[in-house]
Amino acid sequence: MFNSSEVLTALEKALNTSQLYMVYQPIFNLRTQHISGFEALMRWNSPQMGMISPDVFITLLEDSGNIIAIEDMVIHTPWDVATCWPDPLVLSVNISALEFCDPLLPQRVRKNLTACGLPPHRCQIEVTETSPLCDSQVAAKNMMELKAIGVKLALDDFGTGHANLNYLLKYPFDTLKIDKEFVTGIEPDTRSTKIVEGIISLAHNFGIEVLAEGVETQSELDRLLQIGCDKIQGFFISPPVLAEEIPTLLAQYNG
Ligand code: C2E
Ligand code: MG
Ligand code: MG
Ligand code: MG
Repeated sequence: MFNSSEVLTALEKALNTSQLYMVYQPIFNLRTQHISGFEALMRWNSPQMGMISPDVFITLLEDSGNIIAIEDMVIHTPWDVATCWPDPLVLSVNISALEFCDPLLPQRVRKNLTACGLPPHRCQIEVTETSPLCDSQVAAKNMMELKAIGVKLALDDFGTGHANLNYLLKYPFDTLKIDKEFVTGIEPDTRSTKIVEGIISLAHNFGIEVLAEGVETQSELDRLLQIGCDKIQGFFISPPVLAEEIPTLLAQYNG
């Protein structure tokens, strides 16, 4: 087994190499029954250790203070990929709460958008709540600036971790992503269903869309459609795929 400092050393060597790459998972709109965008998710294939989960390596980078090192990759590579998608499709990327405290984030985003030519309304940034937003004033200012550019904002993993109701007061989210935990096995009259229904009605009152994560079955999809959920993601539609496989998915669902 490898200890975390060995993993971190290997990871730092892997930065800017092909060991780190992006995969894309479709976001499916339940109303239109079409794919409305893709979420870019990072992968690390280490020659020594095999595939390492981003849940592990993102946390290591956050703890070592090196998370900004991947920021440029996250707001670069997938954006270039998305420029060749049909117009309304939105690209969503994950930015950890720690990165959100970087005052230069909006400037970097603006620069990269100009460089790749992707219209801002086709970009969404997901705030991933593994740690609390460290400086809420900087984070709020960053979110306002990103909104002013035209970029969309989503709150990831809603209902778990540090993301709380307070965030709906403070930050201008366009979408709430409900964590898989509440979606798995969702059935009539269960507590999960009541929680998800409650979140949907709360979000809709704020004019915020709701996306359910981790949908794996037809019956979960049917239930979510029935209770007014706007969008879903999950293995039932498709697992994350390489950029080359995106046209096949678009032909299947949007063709
Ligand atoms: P997330 O943003 O909440 O992404 C959803 C995770 O659920 C992804 O895991 C995805 O592959 C997985 N998933 C999707 N559909 C299903 C399903 O139907 N069933 C199950 N069991 N899982 C499903 P992944 O790719 O391992 O990513 C884990 C987390 O790592 C992400 O959670 C996100 O918080 C973080 N992450 C991934 N890429 C990046 C990145 O580029 N930057 C940052 N800051 N964080 C990232
Ligand atoms: Mg996400
Ligand atoms: Mg999530
Ligand atoms: Mg997550």
